[in-house]
Amino acid sequence: MSVLVYTENWGGKFKKLSFELVSYANEIAKMYGTNLVTISIGNVSNEELTTLGNYGASKIYSITDAKFNNLSSQAYTKAISQVAKKESANLIIFANTYTTRAVAPRVSIRMEAGLVPGCIALPKQTEPLIITKKAYSGKSFADVEVKTPVKIITLNQNSFKLIEAKTTVSIEVFNPEVSDKDFIAKSIELQKASDKLDVTDAEILVSGGRGLKSADKIGIIDEMAKAIGANCTTACTKPVSDLDWRPHFEHVGQTGKVVAPNLYFALGISGAIQHLAGINSSKFIVAVNTDKDAPIFEAADYGIVGDVFEVIPKLIEAIKELK
Ligand SMILES: Cc1cc2nc3c(=O)[nH]c(=O)nc-3n(C[C@H](O)[C@H](O)[C@H](O)COP(=O)(O)OP(=O)(O)OC[C@H]3O[C@@H](n4cnc5c(N)ncnc54)[C@H](O)[C@@H]3O)c2cc1C
Repeated sequence: MSVLVYTENWGGKFKKLSFELVSYANEIAKMYGTNLVTISIGNVSNEELTTLGNYGASKIYSITDAKFNNLSSQAYTKAISQVAKKESANLIIFANTYTTRAVAPRVSIRMEAGLVPGCIALPKQTEPLIITKKAYSGKSFADVEVKTPVKIITLNQNSFKLIEAKTTVSIEVFNPEVSDKDFIAKSIELQKASDKLDVTDAEILVSGGRGLKSADKIGIIDEMAKAIGANCTTACTKPVSDLDWRPHFEHVGQTGKVVAPNLYFALGISGAIQHLAGINSSKFIVAVNTDKDAPIFEAADYGIVGDVFEVIPKLIEAIKELK
Protein backbone atom coordinates (compact mmCIF):
# COMPACT_ATOMS: atom_id res chain seq x y z
CA MET A 1 0.00 0.00 0.00
CA SER A 2 1.20 3.52 -0.68
CA VAL A 3 0.06 7.06 -1.44
CA LEU A 4 1.16 8.28 -4.87
CA VAL A 5 1.35 11.99 -5.70
CA TYR A 6 1.86 13.38 -9.21
CA THR A 7 3.87 16.61 -9.14
CA GLU A 8 3.38 18.70 -12.26
CA ASN A 9 6.18 21.00 -13.41
CA TRP A 10 6.15 24.22 -15.39
CA GLY A 11 9.16 24.45 -17.71
CA GLY A 12 11.11 22.08 -15.47
CA LYS A 13 10.31 23.99 -12.27
CA PHE A 14 7.92 23.32 -9.42
CA LYS A 15 5.66 25.97 -7.95
CA LYS A 16 4.37 26.60 -4.44
CA LEU A 17 1.34 24.55 -5.48
CA SER A 18 3.59 21.48 -5.97
CA PHE A 19 5.03 21.87 -2.48
CA GLU A 20 1.55 22.34 -0.96
CA LEU A 21 0.52 19.15 -2.73
CA VAL A 22 3.47 17.12 -1.42
CA SER A 23 2.86 18.47 2.14
CA TYR A 24 -0.78 17.42 1.82
CA ALA A 25 0.06 13.97 0.42
CA ASN A 26 2.64 13.43 3.16
CA GLU A 27 0.03 14.15 5.86
CA ILE A 28 -2.41 11.71 4.20
CA ALA A 29 0.29 9.03 3.95
CA LYS A 30 0.75 9.43 7.72
CA MET A 31 -3.02 9.03 8.24
CA TYR A 32 -2.87 5.73 6.30
CA GLY A 33 0.40 4.77 8.03
CA THR A 34 2.00 4.15 4.65
CA ASN A 35 4.74 5.39 2.29
CA LEU A 36 4.58 8.48 0.14
CA VAL A 37 5.70 7.93 -3.45
CA THR A 38 6.08 10.81 -5.90
CA ILE A 39 6.03 10.83 -9.69
CA SER A 40 7.40 13.59 -11.91
CA ILE A 41 7.02 13.62 -15.71
CA GLY A 42 9.13 15.81 -17.99
CA ASN A 43 12.48 17.47 -18.07
CA VAL A 44 13.05 18.19 -14.37
CA SER A 45 16.61 18.23 -13.00
CA ASN A 46 17.55 16.08 -10.02
CA GLU A 47 18.35 19.29 -8.14
CA GLU A 48 14.78 20.52 -8.67
CA LEU A 49 13.33 17.10 -7.76
CA THR A 50 15.29 17.18 -4.51
CA THR A 51 13.37 20.31 -3.42
CA LEU A 52 10.31 18.06 -3.00
CA GLY A 53 12.26 16.33 -0.22
CA ASN A 54 11.81 19.46 1.91
CA TYR A 55 8.13 18.53 2.22
CA GLY A 56 8.38 14.79 2.76
CA ALA A 57 8.90 13.27 -0.72
CA SER A 58 11.40 10.48 -0.11
CA LYS A 59 10.90 8.26 -3.16
CA ILE A 60 10.56 9.92 -6.54
CA TYR A 61 9.97 8.25 -9.90
CA SER A 62 11.22 10.56 -12.62
CA ILE A 63 10.18 10.14 -16.26
CA THR A 64 12.56 12.23 -18.30
CA ASP A 65 12.16 10.65 -21.77
CA ALA A 66 11.89 13.62 -24.17
CA LYS A 67 8.67 12.13 -25.62
CA PHE A 68 6.98 13.17 -22.38
CA ASN A 69 8.10 16.80 -22.46
CA ASN A 70 4.71 17.96 -23.72
CA LEU A 71 1.46 16.72 -22.28
CA SER A 72 -0.04 13.66 -23.92
CA SER A 73 -2.95 12.64 -21.73
CA GLN A 74 -2.93 8.99 -22.89
CA ALA A 75 0.80 8.52 -22.32
CA TYR A 76 0.74 10.35 -18.96
CA THR A 77 -2.22 8.19 -17.91
CA LYS A 78 -0.34 5.00 -18.72
CA ALA A 79 2.83 6.20 -16.96
CA ILE A 80 1.03 7.22 -13.76
CA SER A 81 -1.07 4.03 -13.72
CA GLN A 82 2.04 1.87 -14.16
CA VAL A 83 3.78 3.51 -11.20
CA ALA A 84 0.56 3.26 -9.17
CA LYS A 85 0.40 -0.51 -9.87
CA LYS A 86 4.12 -1.01 -9.22
CA GLU A 87 3.80 0.72 -5.84
CA SER A 88 0.36 -0.80 -5.03
CA ALA A 89 -0.97 2.72 -4.51
CA ASN A 90 -4.33 2.82 -2.78
CA LEU A 91 -4.60 6.59 -3.13
CA ILE A 92 -3.42 8.80 -6.03
CA ILE A 93 -3.28 12.56 -5.51
CA PHE A 94 -3.15 15.32 -8.14
CA ALA A 95 -3.32 19.10 -7.94
CA ASN A 96 -6.51 20.45 -9.48
CA THR A 97 -4.98 22.01 -12.63
CA TYR A 98 -5.85 22.11 -16.33
CA THR A 99 -3.30 19.33 -17.01
CA THR A 100 -4.56 16.99 -14.37
CA ARG A 101 -8.17 17.57 -15.45
CA ALA A 102 -7.12 15.83 -18.68
CA VAL A 103 -5.26 13.03 -16.92
CA ALA A 104 -6.90 12.20 -13.55
CA PRO A 105 -10.25 11.01 -15.01
CA ARG A 106 -8.37 8.74 -17.46
CA VAL A 107 -6.30 7.27 -14.63
CA SER A 108 -9.54 6.80 -12.72
CA ILE A 109 -11.02 4.67 -15.53
CA ARG A 110 -7.81 2.68 -16.02
CA MET A 111 -7.43 1.96 -12.27
CA GLU A 112 -11.20 1.52 -11.68
CA ALA A 113 -10.77 4.15 -8.99
CA GLY A 114 -13.36 6.55 -7.56
CA LEU A 115 -12.33 10.15 -8.29
CA VAL A 116 -13.03 13.20 -6.13
CA PRO A 117 -11.96 16.42 -7.86
CA GLY A 118 -11.49 19.77 -6.09
CA CYS A 119 -10.81 18.58 -2.51
CA ILE A 120 -10.04 21.28 0.03
CA ALA A 121 -8.92 19.50 3.20
CA LEU A 122 -7.47 16.33 4.67
CA PRO A 123 -9.87 13.38 4.68
CA LYS A 124 -12.37 13.28 7.52
CA GLN A 125 -11.66 9.54 7.71
CA THR A 126 -9.64 7.08 5.68
CA GLU A 127 -11.65 3.81 5.78
CA PRO A 128 -13.94 4.34 4.00
CA LEU A 129 -12.47 7.54 2.62
CA ILE A 130 -14.63 10.58 3.35
CA ILE A 131 -13.35 13.89 2.04
CA THR A 132 -14.68 17.43 1.56
CA LYS A 133 -14.77 19.07 -1.86
CA LYS A 134 -16.19 22.26 -3.27
CA ALA A 135 -19.46 21.93 -5.17
CA TYR A 136 -21.68 24.12 -7.35
CA SER A 137 -18.86 26.43 -8.54
CA GLY A 138 -17.59 26.85 -4.99
CA LYS A 139 -20.96 27.91 -3.59
CA SER A 140 -21.20 24.90 -1.27
CA PHE A 141 -19.26 21.97 0.12
CA ALA A 142 -19.88 18.25 -0.26
CA ASP A 143 -18.54 15.36 1.83
CA VAL A 144 -17.88 12.48 -0.56
CA GLU A 145 -17.40 8.83 0.40
CA VAL A 146 -15.25 6.68 -1.90
CA LYS A 147 -15.65 2.92 -1.72
CA THR A 148 -13.35 1.64 -4.49
CA PRO A 149 -10.09 -0.06 -3.40
CA VAL A 150 -8.01 2.56 -5.29
CA LYS A 151 -9.03 6.18 -4.87
CA ILE A 152 -8.07 9.39 -6.64
CA ILE A 153 -8.38 12.94 -5.34
CA THR A 154 -7.38 16.31 -6.74
CA LEU A 155 -6.50 19.17 -4.39
CA ASN A 156 -7.51 22.79 -4.99
CA GLN A 157 -4.72 25.35 -4.91
CA ASN A 158 -4.27 27.29 -1.65
CA SER A 159 -6.26 24.70 0.30
CA PHE A 160 -3.34 23.37 2.31
CA LYS A 161 -0.37 24.96 4.00
CA LEU A 162 3.28 24.09 3.42
CA ILE A 163 4.62 21.73 6.08
CA GLU A 164 8.38 21.31 6.12
CA ALA A 165 9.44 17.68 6.56
CA LYS A 166 13.04 17.37 5.38
CA THR A 167 13.63 13.91 3.94
CA THR A 168 16.46 12.18 2.09
CA VAL A 169 15.34 11.78 -1.50
CA SER A 170 15.90 8.72 -3.68
CA ILE A 171 15.26 9.32 -7.38
CA GLU A 172 14.54 6.44 -9.75
CA VAL A 173 14.40 7.02 -13.49
CA PHE A 174 11.29 5.24 -14.75
CA ASN A 175 10.64 4.18 -18.34
CA PRO A 176 6.95 3.46 -18.77
CA GLU A 177 5.70 1.03 -21.38
CA VAL A 178 4.10 3.20 -24.00
CA SER A 179 3.72 3.00 -27.75
CA ASP A 180 3.69 5.66 -30.49
CA LYS A 181 -0.11 5.37 -30.51
CA ASP A 182 -0.15 6.91 -27.02
CA PHE A 183 1.29 10.10 -28.48
CA ILE A 184 -1.25 10.52 -31.29
CA ALA A 185 -2.82 13.52 -29.57
CA LYS A 186 -0.22 15.73 -27.95
CA SER A 187 0.43 19.41 -27.43
CA ILE A 188 3.26 20.32 -29.79
CA GLU A 189 3.88 23.84 -28.72
CA LEU A 190 2.58 26.22 -26.09
CA GLN A 191 2.08 29.75 -27.36
CA LYS A 192 1.65 32.46 -24.80
CA ALA A 193 -0.99 35.07 -25.59
CA SER A 194 1.27 37.57 -23.88
CA ASP A 195 4.57 37.71 -22.04
CA LYS A 196 2.68 38.86 -18.98
CA LEU A 197 2.52 36.59 -15.98
CA ASP A 198 -0.61 34.44 -16.35
CA VAL A 199 -3.47 35.17 -13.94
CA THR A 200 -3.39 31.55 -12.76
CA ASP A 201 0.33 31.83 -11.87
CA ALA A 202 0.35 35.18 -10.07
CA GLU A 203 0.53 35.36 -6.30
CA ILE A 204 -1.10 38.79 -6.30
CA LEU A 205 -3.87 39.91 -8.69
CA VAL A 206 -5.03 43.48 -9.20
CA SER A 207 -8.43 43.00 -10.80
CA GLY A 208 -10.69 45.66 -12.31
CA GLY A 209 -14.43 45.73 -12.89
CA ARG A 210 -16.90 48.03 -14.59
CA GLY A 211 -16.44 50.51 -11.75
CA LEU A 212 -13.18 51.50 -13.48
CA LYS A 213 -15.41 53.24 -16.08
CA SER A 214 -13.46 53.02 -19.38
CA ALA A 215 -10.62 51.41 -21.35
CA ASP A 216 -8.42 54.44 -20.64
CA LYS A 217 -9.15 54.77 -16.97
CA ILE A 218 -8.76 51.06 -16.16
CA GLY A 219 -5.03 51.42 -16.95
CA ILE A 220 -4.64 52.43 -13.31
CA ILE A 221 -4.67 48.70 -12.41
CA ASP A 222 -1.45 48.32 -14.48
CA GLU A 223 0.14 51.09 -12.41
CA MET A 224 -0.83 49.35 -9.20
CA ALA A 225 0.41 45.94 -10.38
CA LYS A 226 3.69 47.55 -11.45
CA ALA A 227 4.09 49.18 -8.03
CA ILE A 228 3.61 45.80 -6.34
CA GLY A 229 6.15 44.22 -8.72
CA ALA A 230 7.15 40.56 -9.10
CA ASN A 231 4.50 37.83 -8.88
CA CYS A 232 1.73 40.34 -9.47
CA THR A 233 -0.41 40.82 -12.57
CA THR A 234 -3.75 42.25 -13.64
CA ALA A 235 -7.13 40.56 -14.07
CA CYS A 236 -10.68 41.66 -14.83
CA THR A 237 -14.36 40.75 -14.86
CA LYS A 238 -16.25 39.37 -17.87
CA PRO A 239 -18.01 42.60 -18.90
CA VAL A 240 -14.68 44.42 -18.81
CA SER A 241 -13.13 41.96 -21.27
CA ASP A 242 -16.35 41.82 -23.36
CA LEU A 243 -16.13 45.62 -23.69
CA ASP A 244 -12.50 45.22 -24.82
CA TRP A 245 -11.24 47.37 -21.97
CA ARG A 246 -8.91 44.48 -21.09
CA PRO A 247 -7.71 41.37 -23.01
CA HIS A 248 -9.75 38.18 -22.71
CA PHE A 249 -6.90 36.23 -21.12
CA GLU A 250 -7.38 38.40 -18.00
CA HIS A 251 -11.05 37.43 -17.56
CA VAL A 252 -11.61 35.44 -14.38
CA GLY A 253 -14.73 33.70 -13.15
CA GLN A 254 -17.07 30.88 -13.98
CA THR A 255 -16.63 31.34 -17.73
CA GLY A 256 -13.08 32.67 -17.46
CA LYS A 257 -10.05 31.42 -15.60
CA VAL A 258 -10.21 30.10 -12.06
CA VAL A 259 -7.53 31.72 -9.91
CA ALA A 260 -6.19 31.15 -6.42
CA PRO A 261 -3.71 33.92 -5.60
CA ASN A 262 -2.56 34.77 -2.11
CA LEU A 263 -4.01 38.26 -2.52
CA TYR A 264 -6.83 39.41 -4.84
CA PHE A 265 -7.66 43.10 -5.17
CA ALA A 266 -11.25 43.44 -6.43
CA LEU A 267 -11.47 47.04 -7.62
CA GLY A 268 -14.83 48.38 -8.79
CA ILE A 269 -16.19 44.82 -8.93
CA SER A 270 -19.73 44.10 -7.70
CA GLY A 271 -19.03 40.48 -6.70
CA ALA A 272 -21.53 38.61 -8.87
CA ILE A 273 -21.70 34.89 -8.12
CA GLN A 274 -20.20 34.05 -11.54
CA HIS A 275 -17.17 36.21 -10.72
CA LEU A 276 -16.80 34.81 -7.19
CA ALA A 277 -16.81 31.26 -8.61
CA GLY A 278 -13.42 32.02 -10.15
CA ILE A 279 -11.80 33.77 -7.18
CA ASN A 280 -13.11 32.14 -4.04
CA SER A 281 -9.97 30.06 -3.49
CA SER A 282 -7.94 33.28 -3.05
CA LYS A 283 -6.27 33.45 0.34
CA PHE A 284 -7.18 37.12 0.96
CA ILE A 285 -9.60 39.32 -0.96
CA VAL A 286 -9.44 43.11 -0.65
CA ALA A 287 -12.40 44.97 -2.17
CA VAL A 288 -12.82 48.62 -3.05
CA ASN A 289 -16.33 49.71 -4.00
CA THR A 290 -18.45 52.85 -3.59
CA ASP A 291 -21.50 50.76 -2.73
CA LYS A 292 -21.28 49.54 0.87
CA ASP A 293 -23.91 46.88 0.09
CA ALA A 294 -22.04 45.40 -2.90
CA PRO A 295 -21.93 41.56 -2.56
CA ILE A 296 -18.14 41.58 -2.96
CA PHE A 297 -17.86 42.81 0.65
CA GLU A 298 -19.38 39.52 1.85
CA ALA A 299 -16.59 37.58 0.14
CA ALA A 300 -13.83 40.06 1.05
CA ASP A 301 -11.44 39.78 3.99
CA TYR A 302 -10.80 43.53 3.88
CA GLY A 303 -13.10 46.14 2.38
CA ILE A 304 -12.78 49.83 1.59
CA VAL A 305 -15.96 51.74 0.81
CA GLY A 306 -14.71 54.40 -1.55
CA ASP A 307 -14.06 55.61 -5.07
CA VAL A 308 -11.40 53.53 -6.84
CA PHE A 309 -9.94 56.68 -8.39
CA GLU A 310 -9.27 58.09 -4.93
CA VAL A 311 -8.33 54.84 -3.20
CA ILE A 312 -6.01 53.23 -5.81
CA PRO A 313 -3.55 56.20 -5.99
CA LYS A 314 -3.34 56.12 -2.19
CA LEU A 315 -2.71 52.35 -2.24
CA ILE A 316 0.03 52.83 -4.88
CA GLU A 317 1.63 55.54 -2.73
CA ALA A 318 1.48 53.30 0.35
CA ILE A 319 2.97 50.32 -1.55
CA LYS A 320 5.85 52.47 -2.80
CA GLU A 321 6.53 53.81 0.70
CA LEU A 322 6.43 50.29 2.13
CA LYS A 323 8.98 49.13 -0.43
C1 LIG B 1 -23.65 32.51 -17.55
C2 LIG B 1 -22.87 33.68 -17.03
C3 LIG B 1 -21.52 33.54 -16.86
C4 LIG B 1 -20.77 34.62 -16.38
N1 LIG B 1 -19.43 34.46 -16.18
C5 LIG B 1 -18.73 35.47 -15.62
C6 LIG B 1 -17.34 35.33 -15.33
O1 LIG B 1 -16.72 34.31 -15.62
N2 LIG B 1 -16.70 36.35 -14.77
C7 LIG B 1 -17.30 37.53 -14.44
O2 LIG B 1 -16.64 38.45 -13.91
N3 LIG B 1 -18.62 37.71 -14.69
C8 LIG B 1 -19.34 36.70 -15.29
N4 LIG B 1 -20.65 36.89 -15.58
C9 LIG B 1 -21.21 38.25 -15.39
C10 LIG B 1 -21.62 38.51 -13.96
O3 LIG B 1 -22.94 38.06 -13.74
C11 LIG B 1 -21.57 40.04 -13.65
O4 LIG B 1 -22.40 40.70 -14.57
C12 LIG B 1 -20.19 40.62 -13.73
O5 LIG B 1 -19.28 39.89 -12.96
C13 LIG B 1 -20.20 42.05 -13.23
O6 LIG B 1 -18.98 42.65 -13.53
P1 LIG B 1 -18.50 43.94 -12.73
O7 LIG B 1 -18.44 43.63 -11.30
O8 LIG B 1 -17.28 44.42 -13.43
O9 LIG B 1 -19.64 45.02 -13.07
P2 LIG B 1 -20.85 45.56 -12.25
O10 LIG B 1 -21.71 44.46 -11.74
O11 LIG B 1 -21.47 46.60 -13.08
O12 LIG B 1 -20.18 46.22 -10.96
C14 LIG B 1 -19.45 47.38 -10.96
C15 LIG B 1 -19.20 47.75 -9.50
O13 LIG B 1 -18.38 48.89 -9.43
C16 LIG B 1 -18.81 49.72 -8.39
N5 LIG B 1 -18.36 51.08 -8.72
C17 LIG B 1 -18.85 51.95 -9.64
N6 LIG B 1 -18.10 53.06 -9.67
C18 LIG B 1 -17.13 52.88 -8.74
C19 LIG B 1 -16.05 53.70 -8.33
N7 LIG B 1 -15.80 54.89 -8.87
N8 LIG B 1 -15.26 53.23 -7.34
C20 LIG B 1 -15.48 52.02 -6.78
N9 LIG B 1 -16.48 51.20 -7.14
C21 LIG B 1 -17.30 51.64 -8.13
C22 LIG B 1 -20.32 49.56 -8.39
O14 LIG B 1 -20.84 49.89 -7.11
C23 LIG B 1 -20.48 48.10 -8.73
O15 LIG B 1 -20.56 47.31 -7.56
C24 LIG B 1 -21.42 35.84 -16.06
C25 LIG B 1 -22.79 35.96 -16.24
C26 LIG B 1 -23.51 34.90 -16.72
C27 LIG B 1 -24.99 35.05 -16.89
